[in-house]
Amino acid sequence: MKLLTLNFLTCARRTCKTSPSSFPLHPREAELEILESELNLVFLRNILPRLMWSELRGIGEELGLPSLPESPPSREDLVTKPSPAKPSSVTEPSSVEEEGGEGEEVPSQTAKDLHRLLLETTIKEGKLVCGNCGHEYAVKEGVANFLLPGHLV
Ligand SMILES: [Zn+2]
Repeated sequence: MKLLTLNFLTCARRTCKTSPSSFPLHPREAELEILESELNLVFLRNILPRLMWSELRGIGEELGLPSLPESPPSREDLVTKPSPAKPSSVTEPSSVEEEGGEGEEVPSQTAKDLHRLLLETTIKEGKLVCGNCGHEYAVKEGVANFLLPGHLV
């Protein structure tokens, strides 16, 4: 499961729904796997406002990943700033720009880091623990099991 998923998960127990400490679930004994995927700037931009930044930071720290900046990046931080256009008289005729067509957006390092952390870093095996009730949800082969035993539902 992608780390991004943890941004949207709370404990499934009804008694935990109202407790702030049931979010986020805390990964334990997690075995991480990097599954590379294509960076999608539009997608990153869309999820940015919905990210629970400080919680994701905490999860990253719990997993021993490189720490995220204290405040979330802005939408503008996701693309590399276009270098100011040079006057045509100065442009070397021989130079071929590799920046793609006009209007093409180039993902910044920030976007790449975010993509790597949220969408390529996955929990393959381990547990997700509720901070409120302590219930452990098993993650096996990348899939978290949220079925609760009958007495906990
Ligand atoms: Zn719980």
